Amino acid sequence: MGRLADCYYRGQGVREDRPQSAVWLEKAVGLGDADSKACLGNVLVTGDAQAGVAKDAARGFQLLCQCLEQGVTEKILYSLAVCYWTGDGVEKDAAHAVTLLRQLIEQGGMDTALAQEQLARCYILGDGVEADTVQAALWCQRAVAGGSSAAANVLLRHILRCNFCGKTSALQLCSRCRKVRYCNAVCQAAHWTHATDPHKGHCRRTAQASEEAGTAAPGGHASSSAS
Ligand SMILES: [Zn+2]
Ligand SMILES: [Zn+2]
Repeated sequence: MGRLADCYYRGQGVREDRPQSAVWLEKAVGLGDADSKACLGNVLVTGDAQAGVAKDAARGFQLLCQCLEQGVTEKILYSLAVCYWTGDGVEKDAAHAVTLLRQLIEQGGMDTALAQEQLARCYILGDGVEADTVQAALWCQRAVAGGSSAAANVLLRHILRCNFCGKTSALQLCSRCRKVRYCNAVCQAAHWTHATDPHKGHCRRTAQASEEAGTAAPGGHASSSAS
């Protein structure tokens, strides 16, 4: 029945008919087919107007969890992570979303680059993990290598941003905290003694925090400049 739903969805051997596809998918789910649960779960999380399936994130989330219990992880972990990240269908838990993303990346598979890109976003926003632009850049670069063009945009727009002037090709990292970037020594010096939000105080705090947490950034990732 899951196969039949797929045929209707793609128009293979029958005329494409998404509402029919949804009907057969629902029947297959009723019989406990894990792949169909994965499919319907993903559809319910976002809703599919063309198929006449209204969004029901809570039920979608439940179906995806059932798939996990049945040992299916492909196309499941990423959707679950997004549910936890956005709080759609389940209580928001960004830290758990990060755990699922790491699990997915470790396993490999088709959603790996997506997960790496999402993990980079978590590091940019400090959502579920401590904000860390170095880690964000690392995961973004991996996602780009894995074929994610969206990650390349994230990298340019959010990570390689000068903390002083906002230009997006800042390659120099503050050599003390290794958390913020600048175009050059001029921007860095200006930010160090900035009138309203100087990096001076912030720099020592973040450098200390990462030493204590034992998460000092790996060296040689970007050129550093003296401060
Ligand atoms: Zn700058
Ligand atoms: Zn610094």
